[in-house]
Amino acid sequence: MTEKYDLHCHSNHSDGELSVAALFELAAEREITDLALTDHDTLAGMPSAAKAAADNGIKLIHGLELSATWRGQLLHIVGLGVDPENPQLKAGVAENKQRRSDRASLMVADFAEHGIDLAEEVDRLLNDAVPTRPHFAQALINLGYAKDKKQAFKRYLVRGKPGFVPLQWPSIEDIAAWVNAAGGIAVLAHPMRYKFTRTKLIMLIEEMQTAGIQGIEVSTPVTDPQQITMLAKLAVQYDLLGSMGSDFHSPDQPWARLGFAEPLPPQVTPVWSAL
Ligand code: AMP
Ligand code: MN
Ligand code: MN
Ligand code: MN
Repeated sequence: MTEKYDLHCHSNHSDGELSVAALFELAAEREITDLALTDHDTLAGMPSAAKAAADNGIKLIHGLELSATWRGQLLHIVGLGVDPENPQLKAGVAENKQRRSDRASLMVADFAEHGIDLAEEVDRLLNDAVPTRPHFAQALINLGYAKDKKQAFKRYLVRGKPGFVPLQWPSIEDIAAWVNAAGGIAVLAHPMRYKFTRTKLIMLIEEMQTAGIQGIEVSTPVTDPQQITMLAKLAVQYDLLGSMGSDFHSPDQPWARLGFAEPLPPQVTPVWSAL
């Protein structure tokens, strides 16, 4: 059987819509053989993922997506092949979760100052998940303040708008240290999303190497063929492992369908060869 990898997706333990069980059922339908569950700043989905993977004959890669701050910019770093019981990683995840909880309280307060009471609806939606801005976006939709998530992220939740609370995340060195301590590989998520100039992207890649981030996502469903070629070249040039993943959150997002990233160009060393 040919392998089909998706190394970036979300469940309802963070801002995904599907339960872990439903996510793995969908992965089986899509004939994915190796799936990394990578919820934001949490490992809470790992026990149910182990069961769901076994039930569906899929190989589970233990993962997560950690938030980092680099030169004032929010970056996402995916950790793959981690030991979810590693104490150093668990402590780091707890730290990021705490930042998220504290930010959520401040966001509720900021909305209240703007006459928008989201407390109850956000609590209801969270249901033990780590709090993310998409939960607030959904609460805004449910209460009639926005028609969809795009609009919610335009009118609220971003710099200069109600509900925006800036957050200083750990450095990329700290994030890489947690992932590496847990035996995992740290990978820069969706490098085109940050809209960096080429110079800045290369500056980041050079700093990633000393920080201990060994991989980069080369293929996602929203990375076009020229971008894939460009990222593959950088991966080869800087000796980075290449990853691919859909960043699936919900069946309602046709631009990020589970299992739909293009295969890695052959010159790239795939991250799974090192897992
Ligand atoms: P957070 O990590 O809580 O700050 O939220 C970031 C998450 O919000 C990302 O992982 C995306 O899933 C989601 N997101 C960011 N911008 C948008 C947008 N414009 N529309 C929909 N979802 C978004
Ligand atoms: Mn997300
Ligand atoms: Mn991300
Ligand atoms: Mn993601």
